[in-house]
Amino acid sequence: MAKIAINIATGSLQQPEMVVGIDLGTTNSLVAIIHPDTKQPVVLKEHDGNALVPSILHFAEGGNVLVGDEAKKHLIDAPQQTVFSVKRLMGKSYNDIRDYSSFFTYKVIDDQTESLVKIQVGDRFYSPVELSSLILKELKTRAEHILKTPVTKAVITVPAYFNDAQRQATRDAGKLAGLDVLRIVNEPTAASLAYGLGLKKDEVKTIAVYDLGGGTFDISILRINGGIFEVLSTNGDTYLGGDDFDRAIANEWAKNIGISQEEMQSNRSIAQQLRLTAEAAKIHLSTHDHFMAEIAGEKVTLSRADFEELAKPFVDRTMTCCANAMKDAGLHIDAIEEVVLVGGSTRVPLVKTSVQKFFNRVPHDAVNPDEVVALGAAVQADILAGNNKDFLLLDITPLSLGIETMGGLMDVLVPRNSKIPSKVARQYTTQKDGQSSMKIAVFQGERDLVKDNRKLAEFNLTGIPGMPAGLPKVEISFLINADGILLVKAKEIRSGVEQTVEVKPQYGLTDEEVEKMLMDSVTHAKEDMAIRALVEARTEARQILDTTSGFLQKNGSILTVEEKTATDAAMTSLQNLMENGNKDEIHTAIEKLNEISRPYAERLMDHAISTAMKGKKI
Ligand code: ADP
Ligand code: MG
Repeated sequence: MAKIAINIATGSLQQPEMVVGIDLGTTNSLVAIIHPDTKQPVVLKEHDGNALVPSILHFAEGGNVLVGDEAKKHLIDAPQQTVFSVKRLMGKSYNDIRDYSSFFTYKVIDDQTESLVKIQVGDRFYSPVELSSLILKELKTRAEHILKTPVTKAVITVPAYFNDAQRQATRDAGKLAGLDVLRIVNEPTAASLAYGLGLKKDEVKTIAVYDLGGGTFDISILRINGGIFEVLSTNGDTYLGGDDFDRAIANEWAKNIGISQEEMQSNRSIAQQLRLTAEAAKIHLSTHDHFMAEIAGEKVTLSRADFEELAKPFVDRTMTCCANAMKDAGLHIDAIEEVVLVGGSTRVPLVKTSVQKFFNRVPHDAVNPDEVVALGAAVQADILAGNNKDFLLLDITPLSLGIETMGGLMDVLVPRNSKIPSKVARQYTTQKDGQSSMKIAVFQGERDLVKDNRKLAEFNLTGIPGMPAGLPKVEISFLINADGILLVKAKEIRSGVEQTVEVKPQYGLTDEEVEKMLMDSVTHAKEDMAIRALVEARTEARQILDTTSGFLQKNGSILTVEEKTATDAAMTSLQNLMENGNKDEIHTAIEKLNEISRPYAERLMDHAISTAMKGKKI
């Protein structure tokens, strides 16, 4: 008999925790889940049947914040209190957006610096993270209302070109909204997943994702290989989208009915009407041939052909971006096996046919283009919730990868959350004179000491030609290929000797284990830092002791008796503290030894220079 859990506090049936997928868009945002009965992704809709929440905030008098359609109503009548396109500001400084400052009708603070932008509404200041969190909070509340269950875990999508700062800002916004963000997923990856692309283990495919939204255009070329999404190239225009179509229509009508640009600026209600009617016309013309309405007592009309003429220059620009993306990916059109349409503006027939012509292939358009990203995020969320055990979707490394350096410290080469595939190389050197081999131990984890991390592999680079310590240049490179397999290569640059091992880093770790390792790194962060400082002090002490004894062996004769005694004493003291002292004591002892040796080291230097000068004949 199946057991049913009942929440004692509320008396309601306890459901397994739901992880939702969220498309946090520039124009619209929405939430999707995997339906518990059908196991199919579905978007969450309000009673009015609308899933899309305009990504717009209106700060009303009295401190009330409206989100979505209610806020959109104030876009033109209260531009200073109504914030749109927050996504464009995520992780940006004022300098980043300076060229577009006229685009924002609300107040973006120009602080002339590289620090992150702030938005001023009334006498309050908001960061883009806070503003995004208000949208996410609204989505969370709506989802809880529709699902009648708490929603605390989510997957949120971002454009493929988002950098670390922008991804982190999105994550922070989620946290601020009370969401545990299990993963940040690329929008084109999510869209592909919604079409089931990339869900088969042995599938290898190259696909193009064409995303034309309200204000932005993105083209991404992806290679899917066994559940791993590799971004081959991205291109686009962050100020090109359906809004441009609306603007073009509104301007055309304004011209026809004799409304000047100045009047459009001063008469906000007319401007508002023109823009909203223009958008309605555009949407109507996606399925009809003719549109007609009345604005300020004047008849306005638009045919599909007229509209296409207005839209063509913008559509052509997207095609140029597509060509550039193909060039950057180093691919010919024939290499593209699937094309996916994303974004509300791909409903425009001209857009669809242009994409089809360019890629010479019928694009996927069966899923609603403005819902497809959220639906794919739900697919990913379900996999992360553990409901779909067959897949291990990896487009980032869940834990850091690095090697052991002196004193058992972890030196991270590939930080966690790095994109796959990824390649990093760093140079190391030997500790001892004449050292002919080097042990390379590869670890995975977030702790500062390798003993607390997971060892993945160990090998020896042998045959390093005899050289003084510090002279050999050993380059260690980590290459994680699209299969998630790590290749570690060690190469001594001067002699060319090299060695390679193959490691499978991610496999064998469950999500819980990964989570635990991350948690441990947080709880132990303080003690780890202390240990790292001590180990580094000890390493420095060992090096200076070695250098000093080497120096004494070679140049001992230039020291006075007093200098010799003082040096010996300082060395013994440092040796003792290196074994038993704390990091500050070690540093003080190092400083002392340095002070004693500086005068004779300088003397030797002068001597060397004057000898060199003597030898020179002019
Ligand atoms: P974003 O990804 O930027 O948040 P969406 O994917 O939701 O945006 O796309 C919004 C844009 O799609 C708007 O410009 C809207 O007018 C446009 N759009 C929505 N439906 C249609 C339609 N049927 N025909 C043409 N454009 C549409
Ligand atoms: Mg979008």
